[in-house]
Amino acid sequence: MVPNMKRPRSKRRGGIGRHAEELLWLAGGLAESCCQVEDRFWEKRLASAIDTTLAHDDEDTLDTALDQAFNRSGSVYDELADAIESRTESPVILGNEHDIVFIAAPVLVWSRFRIPARTLPAATLANLRVHLLAHILAQNARLAMADFLFSPDQLPQGYCDTANFAARLGRAALEGEDLHIDTGGMPETTQFLSDTRYILAAVVVPRGHAAFRWQESDGNRAEALAQWRGQGGDCLTPLLPGCALEVVLPESYFAACRSADKLSRAYSVRASVAFLATSLDVPVINLRAVIAPFWDEQIEEYRIGFTLSNNDSVVHGVVWPLLGMENEAVDVPAEIESVLRECGVGVVKTLEHRFPLEFCDDCGVPLYPSPEGEIVHAEMPEAEAEQIPRHLH
Ligand SMILES: [Zn+2]
Repeated sequence: MVPNMKRPRSKRRGGIGRHAEELLWLAGGLAESCCQVEDRFWEKRLASAIDTTLAHDDEDTLDTALDQAFNRSGSVYDELADAIESRTESPVILGNEHDIVFIAAPVLVWSRFRIPARTLPAATLANLRVHLLAHILAQNARLAMADFLFSPDQLPQGYCDTANFAARLGRAALEGEDLHIDTGGMPETTQFLSDTRYILAAVVVPRGHAAFRWQESDGNRAEALAQWRGQGGDCLTPLLPGCALEVVLPESYFAACRSADKLSRAYSVRASVAFLATSLDVPVINLRAVIAPFWDEQIEEYRIGFTLSNNDSVVHGVVWPLLGMENEAVDVPAEIESVLRECGVGVVKTLEHRFPLEFCDDCGVPLYPSPEGEIVHAEMPEAEAEQIPRHLH
């Protein structure tokens, strides 16, 4: 999952710095503002305070302010989080007279083999550029792309890193160049059965003009996605051998990452079902899924254990993380069950009681619910397991 997504924050108490106080005061003013004139007053000052904080690489101040805002009533937290995200993905570049937006084009991928994170060859980059400009971006938009297909581990970490990366891409876009990514020292990619890859880019338009195709009177999001799915998908398929993939609508960075996180949950359930039916050579109807909630201090996630319908051993598992403000009041199990039913899974069992958020002491993988209501290590039967040299999620 991408860091910085809106999530319940820790309840930190005690003194906070002057800059964090100022951010809270401005976000509080905006939250209670009575009209657009007042909105603009607060927005302008909040944006400028956030820009200063980002320019000083002061991640702590942003974190502290968000933690504190989370404990306040009303929409202070939402206003602050929205403002921080929006300043992070719209870099301020001295002397620049354009609007700049940092965007992501996420791709959901699954494979029995390694899912690559790799440099984008010049020809692919050129093709992707043509299709992004034609289907996703507005007419006068200019674009700079990073020449790498990123894994979640390799995305910039934290708001300040993200803002710095966005500024590098923004400057490249103003100069009409792409951004070469030096792969030396890049973090290792954890391998999963299903995962997300990201194309990162910056869009530049004359100030106040449309940036995206759907801001134009004859464009819309659905058509943009349909075109990108076909054309963008075709460009990416050769780069991901042995992988199935599904593109997500390219948008501003945080919105695109949130969509990818949300869509990847059902995607990884479908991937697991397809993987099990093939690996175990059984019809999908012979699979059984057990859904259960996993708790720490609050509910953290659901986990799904898979077995054959005539055997209680858990052969595989999937985590369904909760996103945003989702909690136990949302009927997540019903949503998971409907995905499993659509796939054709024969038996779906939902366990009600709270399981502890436990992981294997040796290899760190999550433990999954069994049909008898225990938490166990998922193990593929031996013959199949030899072909899968890695853990799955
Ligand atoms: Zn283990």
